[in-house]
Amino acid sequence: MNAVKRREIFRRLHEDNPTPKTELAYTTPFELLVAVTLSAQSTDVGVNKATARLFPVANTPEAIYALGVDGLSQYIKTIGLYNSKAKNVIAACRLLIERHGGQVPDTREALEALPGVGRKTANVVLNTAFGQPAMAVDTHIFRVSNRTGIAPGKTVLEVEKKLLKFVPKDYLLDAHHWLILHGRYVCQARKPRCGSCRIEDLCEYKHKTTDD
Ligand code: SF4
Repeated sequence: MNAVKRREIFRRLHEDNPTPKTELAYTTPFELLVAVTLSAQSTDVGVNKATARLFPVANTPEAIYALGVDGLSQYIKTIGLYNSKAKNVIAACRLLIERHGGQVPDTREALEALPGVGRKTANVVLNTAFGQPAMAVDTHIFRVSNRTGIAPGKTVLEVEKKLLKFVPKDYLLDAHHWLILHGRYVCQARKPRCGSCRIEDLCEYKHKTTDD
């Protein structure tokens, strides 16, 4: 795909949704970190229901650490893999208290050193909480990047690097939100809705549908 097409794709996605947001509910970097950690293999809606109960009671590393694994599990047991997620969150809270004065660090290295925090979670926090142009490639972004030709790649890391290189700089900060939303609601995994897709004429996917 050439640069002119890429720019036009993001111009349209921006036009339709000028201030895209994550669908996870949060008010602080720490709440975002917890929500993203809980969201692995779970829906944002499910995570939001759990954190709506948890955060009014405990939304700092100190407060969640004080709940302990069993206490935290009571709030998040509707979420898949809640037991291991509770253990990771409690261990991460301890490190945040011990090493970072209870604050969420704004570097990849420090974030990825936290239990349960991988590259993707770190990228979401760097981008969404700290405004850094990091690209968290999830299943939706991976699919949309490959189908459209915006940033084709065989691995998540390859797609991430190509997006960072090829997305026009002025769209880089919001690009991952647009691509996630596009993948979630339009360019869906089993049946892409090409018939009502805003970027159909620019997309280079060879198996477009007429569905809308
Ligand atoms: S035209 Fe189809 S394959 Fe291309 S981005 Fe739109 S929905 Fe996805």
